Amino acid sequence: MANLKEIEGKVIRAAEEALFRQHYVSSIDVLIGMGYLQPIHVQDWKNGKIPYLEKVIPANLHKISHAMKCFRKWADQKDLKPSETVYLAKTKGPKRPLQFSKSGHPQIELAYRTHYISPLLSERKQERLKETFNQSPDLIVYVIVKDSQCSHCKKDLMKGYLLFMEGEQPLCLECAELGDLVFLPSGDPMLTRRTKRYSEKLAIVVKFSHSRKRYERQGILIQEAALRKAQSNIKNSLSKNA
Ligand SMILES: [Zn+2]
Repeated sequence: MANLKEIEGKVIRAAEEALFRQHYVSSIDVLIGMGYLQPIHVQDWKNGKIPYLEKVIPANLHKISHAMKCFRKWADQKDLKPSETVYLAKTKGPKRPLQFSKSGHPQIELAYRTHYISPLLSERKQERLKETFNQSPDLIVYVIVKDSQCSHCKKDLMKGYLLFMEGEQPLCLECAELGDLVFLPSGDPMLTRRTKRYSEKLAIVVKFSHSRKRYERQGILIQEAALRKAQSNIKNSLSKNA
């Protein structure tokens, strides 16, 4: 039984730390804080490489469910505000919700998805947080630095082209259902912001910089109609102000 007591202590420490840092806590924050989850695994899961999150938690289900129970008890005692959150996979096509548990049981999934927000935050800040929790994730498209091939249509993908990763599989933009989008390079924040607002589909274009050893944003892929609308919008507001 000492083991379960230990788990509770770990849960509380991880939860308190996350709450202090960001004014809300998710089950993922707690599991990472306890050392049950690695951030890289969470990324892989969001990218569709891992079928359900519990698969990469190196503890048995009994311990995990005990940890989740302790987390809910702690949140309840602190009077935190529960907020149901939707986790969507960063995969092509219609967005599908991510699965946390092996069983996929709706009640267990709900427990995992729920975020707890500090009641000390103003109502407005609480609302804004909830919005950011439920934003659909940005798809990432890579500028190819090494020749590759689309795993679906077998088209050669040369250096300088764009590709999308579906799990471990490289896809050309057509096969990733992003072929109808146009590229808007970074550098015009106002145009980017407005275009994003009008575009129903969007992907961030990044390129690996060998000298800086990190991905750098090159621009976005957006619907052409959205770009035109944003451009004429800006032109109109400029001529009005002239
Ligand atoms: Zn293809």
